[in-house]
Amino acid sequence: MPQTSVTILRGADTIGGSCVKIIHGEDSIVLDYGAPLMDSTGASIDADLASSPSMENGILLDIQQQDTRPPLAYLLSHAHPDHYGLLRSLPKSSNIYLSDSSYSMMTIGNLFYPEALRFSSLEQCRQFSPGKPFQVGPFTVTAFLMDHSAFGACSLLIEVDGKQVYYTGDFRGHGRKSQVSDYIYENVKQPDLMLLEGTTLDGGHSQQFPTEVSVEEAMVSALDEGDGPAFVSASGSNIDRIVSLYNATKRTGKKLVIDLYQLYLLEALKKYSPSLPPHKNDHLKVIFPQSQLAIIKSEFGDDFLRYSNRHVNLSKLKGTNYVFRLSPYAMTPTLTHLKKKGQNLNLSTLCG
Ligand SMILES: [Zn+2]
Repeated sequence: MPQTSVTILRGADTIGGSCVKIIHGEDSIVLDYGAPLMDSTGASIDADLASSPSMENGILLDIQQQDTRPPLAYLLSHAHPDHYGLLRSLPKSSNIYLSDSSYSMMTIGNLFYPEALRFSSLEQCRQFSPGKPFQVGPFTVTAFLMDHSAFGACSLLIEVDGKQVYYTGDFRGHGRKSQVSDYIYENVKQPDLMLLEGTTLDGGHSQQFPTEVSVEEAMVSALDEGDGPAFVSASGSNIDRIVSLYNATKRTGKKLVIDLYQLYLLEALKKYSPSLPPHKNDHLKVIFPQSQLAIIKSEFGDDFLRYSNRHVNLSKLKGTNYVFRLSPYAMTPTLTHLKKKGQNLNLSTLCG
């Protein structure tokens, strides 16, 4: 009888950099191959090391080890760099699987992200749909949607030779998908082994905003108080947070201004979650930054014209009823630009 074994190659005592190998006889699969955020002592990884990963500098892992065959597949739990970051170093012949919604998200991200964050292996990826089992050699894999800040995040149930390994990937219980845990309890009964993500098990995180809904409430209060334009720094791929912002601006009668990256990302994810904005005649407006417009034109031609009715020009913006979603990188340049144009900015901060 072939033996089954599970090895955590990285991530047992660090946050991120996760990589788990499951071997059955001569066959194996790998769950995640993330870029490490810290070394084994907990110190941050030097940016130079991270940008030139190798086995010698300790960033890449010896995944094949003593095995005669390379892994049959690499399964990605979700689209965060500390879970997918090193997949780009694999040979082009490697099989990579990820959820259909992660694939859509990364397709849009690849158009707009800086080179270091792009997922260059996307063309060689196969997609899976949550809840639909698929076969990789002797392994039966079923993915379950998880509540996490990366849209499309999945846990993975691996069944082989009558045994079950359940890998949660990153998850939480306080987002907008917290009810998915009931579904998982129904379908994953008694795995033989469970690998549980535990970043916050030590309880050392702030409880200032215990749920995503409480973040939305805090946004409503902050927006109600302020009478100038507001600027919110949030990751565009944290769709739960974008929905909080969309709801909060709607509730306070503000206009939410996003960029083309955010708009095309939301449109791409609507097929998985039709309730996502934008909605007809809503309060969503869009700026067309030159660099983003050039990308959209080369990829989709004149497609952006159908959003003309939502377009606002940052340089000519009048009034104060606007709330901007900006990436952390765009915040300073945008504020500088607006100040130069003579906008009177009254800034306050809401942390979430
Ligand atoms: Zn994550």
